[in-house]
Amino acid sequence: MEIKHFPDPLLRKKSEDVKSIGRSEKKLLTDMAEIMYLNGGVGLAAVQVGIHKNMIVVDIGDGLKKMINPVISKREGRVAQEEGCLSVPEKCVNVKRSKKIVVDYLNEDGQAIRVSAEGLLARVVQHEIDHLFGKLILDYLSPLKKICNSLTTRKL
Ligand SMILES: [Zn+2]
Repeated sequence: MEIKHFPDPLLRKKSEDVKSIGRSEKKLLTDMAEIMYLNGGVGLAAVQVGIHKNMIVVDIGDGLKKMINPVISKREGRVAQEEGCLSVPEKCVNVKRSKKIVVDYLNEDGQAIRVSAEGLLARVVQHEIDHLFGKLILDYLSPLKKICNSLTTRKL
């Protein structure tokens, strides 16, 4: 399993909902977390390893969250911040996102979880859900906005 990099067309394909959570889904989440940690990331979507399932892992430093079929059900405010991406190496883009969100998902035991998130957690979840729709930070570029070159920006 390896991280797919832009412009790999696999990153542009939309992911699908997970219908049942079995051993292979749990193994995938564990492997995804391992790859995220190995690469110093704070989030990873399954599509980034070429698997088109709606699954993400997030750890902003307060513990690993495994989210299956995550959906944002509420948004509040707007805030811009520079973001890096494990699939777009050594680049970063200033991205405007919702400041606070509510995200609904299933954990690996199939339980429905609802989390209110703000700050970095809200940003990472929105970034990873973008991946599930085939969207990358590069899509937020405009003629007025320059790509930045950064090795220190958090990788999502
Ligand atoms: Zn990313």
